[in-house]
Parts: sequence; structure tokens; C-alpha cells
Amino acid sequence: MAELFPYTFSLIGKKILLSNDAGDFFLSSENFLERLINKNCTKKDNEFLLRKGFAYNEANDFYYNSHLLRLKQKKQVAGKISYVIAIPTLRCDLACDYCQVSRASINAKGFDWTDEIIFAFKKFISGSSDRKLKIEFQGGEPSLRMDIIEDVVEHCDKEGIDAEFIICTNLSTLSESLRKLLERKDFFVSTSIDGPAKLHTDNRTKDEFITASVLKNYQEIQSTYGSGKVNALPTITNDSFEAIRNIIDYYVSIGQRSIFLRPVNYQGFARKTFAAAKDEYYNWISSYQKALQYIFDLNFNDSAQIVEVGFEVAIKRIFLPSYNSHVDLRSPNPAVRDYLVINYDGDLYPSDEARMLSRIRHIDLKMGNIVSGINAKILKDFNWNQMNEIHEDCIHCAYKPFCGIDTIDDLSRYNRTDLPKHETYFCKSNMSTFDNIFSKIEQNDPVAFFNIQGHLSGDFSLKPIMANWLYD
Ligand code: SF4
Repeated sequence: MAELFPYTFSLIGKKILLSNDAGDFFLSSENFLERLINKNCTKKDNEFLLRKGFAYNEANDFYYNSHLLRLKQKKQVAGKISYVIAIPTLRCDLACDYCQVSRASINAKGFDWTDEIIFAFKKFISGSSDRKLKIEFQGGEPSLRMDIIEDVVEHCDKEGIDAEFIICTNLSTLSESLRKLLERKDFFVSTSIDGPAKLHTDNRTKDEFITASVLKNYQEIQSTYGSGKVNALPTITNDSFEAIRNIIDYYVSIGQRSIFLRPVNYQGFARKTFAAAKDEYYNWISSYQKALQYIFDLNFNDSAQIVEVGFEVAIKRIFLPSYNSHVDLRSPNPAVRDYLVINYDGDLYPSDEARMLSRIRHIDLKMGNIVSGINAKILKDFNWNQMNEIHEDCIHCAYKPFCGIDTIDDLSRYNRTDLPKHETYFCKSNMSTFDNIFSKIEQNDPVAFFNIQGHLSGDFSLKPIMANWLYD
């Protein structure tokens, strides 16, 4: 019998999912698993295992080396910063219920980048080695400091940095300077729209006239610059399926083809107000699965072509070997490697959530400062926890090659990182997503395959490939 690479397995419906660290997988009968465990494989089994990437004949043969290559693709994270979240101000003109950024009031002092930070930031992006960057301006409300944004854009032009810019704005106003930047091919808007006007008013603006202005500005950007220019994201506070379906229908009606169904994550100052919400995920998971099926049916029956971002990421983690850029679902997940948050005071964080936890003094996850540099010791210590490959619970899990790890989420919700994984929100939500996907694959569900293909390629007009993942 050929030599086997390490593998894990799990029961999916009536089949067994087998996966290995390189992300190869198939579903088998229980009989096959018994033959495999008892080292009683047939010649046909052996050939299948070699073909599927689960075995090799001898070290350094074709099967051995191609496994190593896939393993490298699966685990390798880019070594250079390619995505920067820049927070030129923490001030904001709105005060949404669940503000995730622990905002400062609009006239507060000391919450904007100083000249020293702006200088250090420009120096930092000039030194980015491949000169290809995504820069996302967040806040607070970053459009309060259009002067800084214009300065950064001009700097990139002058330095020949191939940057794409995104401004995350509440769109309560649409200034002349923002309109001008929107004429550029590389400048985009991301905004929050929680759903129909009344819901958006209740959750965010508290004023129907401001909501009307937000929606008018959104439509104006779409009609003037094209629908791809503005992306909207809902924050979902009511986790009933009916409420989520209304948001999906609303998004379709305003011409959004992409929707990220995320429950509100009460963080920062808001978590203190809504402390109980941290454990309310069972309702969410059930409603999310129904909502996903609703989107699948709209795509299959009505050619709606809607991408649900969470599902898209999970599917790409399964089917695209080197899809390692999404920091919410990858492992290893080294902080401040390819992604970085630069706060209003120049402090560096591995993620937005880390920044908020530091701000409410929950835990200090600052990794340095843009002026003084990165603290390599803290970074190294932190990154040892960012690998599911060595986590005592994940190592037995058949979803490990597709899943990720998020120590910051565990710290945020439970104040500790050593909770059994299956008790954490991160594990429960990803486990249910992967259970759902592999069950559909096991059932050879044509609607699911159509949606898998659409989410992978962005093209819902292709006939889905009904690949056979089953082996007896
Ligand atoms: S977090 Fe949960 S689902 Fe993900 S690899 Fe670990 S045990 Fe598996």
C-alpha cells in the first residue's frame, strides 16, 4: 500500500469527509474508511488515494512533491503589506447605536492624524516593496478629513504607487472634493446601509432627513459613476429570518449584487451596553442558513446573481488553494504581515476589532506606532497563537485546512484564548458553514452547485460542474 499523508475525517450525512493539510478532500463510504484504517486498501483504492493527493509511493516522487507544493500554496501568506486600513480621524457626525469604532464627537480635539503621522504614513507607503496597495480610509467619518485623503492620493500618484482607494463613509454628505476623487478609476466608496429607510434611521441616523440624504447620495454615486463604484454593507440587529430576508430584498431593489450577512458584533463601548448579545448566536446561525438558501433560490430561479460574502470566502477557502488573503478566515493568520490598521494616533493594530478592544481597555493589542515602528516581540508572541495547525482542538477537525483562527475574536468575546474551540463563536459559526457546504456536496444539490460556481467565478451564467466527490 502507498504511504499516506496525515488526514482527518468527519461524518457528513451518510458519508465520510476526508481532508488533508493541503486542502485535498473527498467523501467516501464507511466501508472505504474501514479499509483505509485497517490498511486493507484495494489496488483501485490505492490509485484513487494517489490521484486525490492523499498518498505517495516514495519520498520525492511526483505525488510527494505535488503535495508539498499544494501545502505551500495553502499555508503561504504574502510577506508584504498589501492592505492598509487608515483612520485619519476618529470623529464622526453620527452616533449609531452599536458604533463599532468607539467614535469621538464631531468637535472633539486630538482625534485626528497629526502632521507627524501623515508624514510617517506617506513614508511607510512609499517604502512598501511591491508598490501595489489597497488603502481603505475608515473612521470615525473619514470624509471629515478630505484634505488628508487628497494628500495621500496625490502622494501615491507622485510616487508611482499602484494603489486602490476605498473610503468608508456614512454618506450623510457628498462633498465636492469626494465627487472629484470618485471620478478616478481607482477610488471607491463603501457605506453602511442597514436596510429600508426606517430601519436605517432607527439603527443609525435617528433622523429621517439624514437617512433620505444618505440614500440620495448612494443613488447619485450609482447613477453617475456606475453601480460598481459603491458597495453597501448591512449590520443586522434583528436575527429573525424574516428581518434578514427584508434586507436581502431591499439590497436587490437598490442594485447591490453583493451582500455580507453579518450579525451586529457589539464591540467597543457598545459591547458594554449589549453585553448579553455575545452569546446569542444560535438564532443567528439558523436564520443565516435560511437566508443563504433564500439567496441560492433567487440566483437559481430568478437570475438574481447575488454574492453573499461570507459564503464566497468559505467556498474560496475550499476550492482555491492559495486563497489566503482574507484575515477573518485563514491559517496561519499572522498579524501585521499583509494587513495593518493605523489608528488616529498612529498606533498600529492587527485588525479593527483589536483597535477597539484596546480603546475600551479590554486588552492592549497595539503592535507599535507608525512613527516609532513595529514592536517585533509583541508581534511574534501574538502570532504563535494564530495557527489552527497547532491548536489542540483544531488538529482533529476535518475542516481545519479550510477554516482559520481568530485569537482577537476569542479575546473579545471570552477574555481568554484557551476556551475549547467548539465552545467559541468562531468555531460554531464556521463549523455550521462548512457542515452546510459539505452536506450540499454530499447530496449533489444542483442549486448549491450552481451557487458554488457563481460565488467562485462571479459568473452565474455558467453551467455548474457537477463534480463527483464521492468514493465507495
Ligand atoms: S475552529 Fe472549529 S471548525 Fe475551525 S478548524 Fe478549529 S475546530 Fe474546526
